[in-house]
Amino acid sequence: MSRAHAQSIPWASILSLVAKATAQSAGAVVPDRPPTPFAVLVTTMISPRTKDEVTEAAAGRLLRRASTPRALGALSETQIARLIYPAGFYRSKARHLRSTCRILELRYASRVPAAREELLELPGVGRKIANLVLSQAFGIDAICVDTHVHRISNRVGWVSTRNPHGTEEALARILPVRHWSRLNHLLVPFGKRVCTPQSPRCSSCPIRKHCARTGVGRSR
Ligand code: SF4
Repeated sequence: MSRAHAQSIPWASILSLVAKATAQSAGAVVPDRPPTPFAVLVTTMISPRTKDEVTEAAAGRLLRRASTPRALGALSETQIARLIYPAGFYRSKARHLRSTCRILELRYASRVPAAREELLELPGVGRKIANLVLSQAFGIDAICVDTHVHRISNRVGWVSTRNPHGTEEALARILPVRHWSRLNHLLVPFGKRVCTPQSPRCSSCPIRKHCARTGVGRSR
């Protein structure tokens, strides 16, 4: 995408349309208090390949049993796996959670580091998780690119990339920083309800006039 074209993208209005289309259901639960960085880290480590409701239930069970890195690291892998089952890949996630908690306790005095490089050194933590933790737990601007953000960004024509890391780097060049942390929050529900992986709902899509529909075959 040319620099001039990138600068002409009306990000604020597009993201406002996305937000309206996916307005969180009226019954959405608002937590009593913001989650701790540790709770954010644990929840995001459980979430890959797992439905939201399963992730929330699994993280709730685990954190009620062990709310600190020391307590969680003292559990066995089997205990952790039982608590987070049926999350996807629950055995390997249990191993990573336990190892990560031990590192947090020994190296960071049981605190979650607020730096990407340090987060990326933790077992089971990749860029997606690190960026989510930075933005959700610490309010640091970061673009979290999951499968929805990657797919939609390419379809709309904001980027032309092969993988999520490439999408993150390309978006960082064209997306104003004030939208970085909210992009994932907006595009994940949009990708589940409107711009779905198979047969996206283009005929009723509120951002259709802004979309190149790159690679879109069958649509509704
Ligand atoms: S027009 Fe279709 S491809 Fe483009 S964002 Fe909307 S649903 Fe997705």
